[in-house]
Amino acid sequence: MKYVAELRDPAAMRGLLDRIAARVTRPWTIMEICGGQTHAIVEHGLLDLLPPELHLVHGPGCPVCVTPVAVLERARRLALHPAVTLHTFGDMLRVPGAAGDLLDARAHGGDVRVVLSPLDAVRAAQAEPERTHALLAVGFETTAPTTALAVELAARLGLENLVVLASHVRVPPALAQLLGRRREDGAGGIDGLLAAGHVCTVEGFEGAYPELAARFGVPVVVTGFEPVDLLRGLLACVAQLEEGRAEVENAYARAVRPEGNPHARAAVERVFEIADVPWRGLGVLPAGGLALRPAFTRFDAAARFPDLAGPAEGPAEDPRCRAAEVLQGLLSPAACPELGRACTPEHPLGAPMVSTEGACAAYHRHRPVPLGRRP
Ligand code: SF4
Repeated sequence: MKYVAELRDPAAMRGLLDRIAARVTRPWTIMEICGGQTHAIVEHGLLDLLPPELHLVHGPGCPVCVTPVAVLERARRLALHPAVTLHTFGDMLRVPGAAGDLLDARAHGGDVRVVLSPLDAVRAAQAEPERTHALLAVGFETTAPTTALAVELAARLGLENLVVLASHVRVPPALAQLLGRRREDGAGGIDGLLAAGHVCTVEGFEGAYPELAARFGVPVVVTGFEPVDLLRGLLACVAQLEEGRAEVENAYARAVRPEGNPHARAAVERVFEIADVPWRGLGVLPAGGLALRPAFTRFDAAARFPDLAGPAEGPAEDPRCRAAEVLQGLLSPAACPELGRACTPEHPLGAPMVSTEGACAAYHRHRPVPLGRRP
């Protein structure tokens, strides 16, 4: 298949692996930021094929995983409101909240619907004007543009029965916090970063990344999601490290332009403003997310339903779950004692086991740890 087969070609992979091995002279720790990259790395066995000097750690780039419990709790309460239909992406249904997940809410009579696009919620609001339609919109810079367009369309249509519970987050502030915190805590530095290609298709790589590379002295290589893409990104990163460079480089040029997608960025800019927001597992990050601009407050679910905010009805996290460490690259999912035992996709203890981009789900599916060899 054009554009897939050649990016999974064993000979091409072997050639890149040989070139990486030839460049590496000492240990390096490289973090891939995106959960989609983590899945590809684990699925295609790259952890076992790379030279032993290269240590890959998995980053926080799983949007479902970093959505705060308070947002999930508000979504659950919205779903149980008799006059509200909650729309969201399929990944969100099984994410454990403080008092259950959205599937539980549906089982208790809540009207919870899965959408493929935020525009589905707009269409539902048009078709069923007697109900309020709430869109739970999560994700990084990649999904924020479609939420922005849905809000703008609702405004143009004069819809009064659509609200948005938005939890859109921004990657660069999380990386800055993570790199700085790991250094302060003596957790071991991260020598290089593979930036998430799809985020960069929207944001480009001229904005925050050069400052990040200079401030922390780490190469930042924009990287795709297929095994050949990942190996190209790793080769570029290793080459920089071995040469003592810390620059921003694009190893995903077939999809990413330096300036990103100006139309998508403009849509986000019109509807959202940068805000300090909480990330699950990382705390409140300055400039770490997006909030609706005052001109669109009428679509803000939190403003329309203020009574939904309140103390969570239960513990924020299962005490056995170590997702916060997994999301910061401090713990490999393979080292979590609950992986495949108490925590499975059918009965997840934490969000990284639920999402298709969660690191724990990747290990459970592609790299199961034999029960006898568990810590
Ligand atoms: S394997 Fe399960 S319990 Fe362990 S960190 Fe991942 S989500 Fe949490």
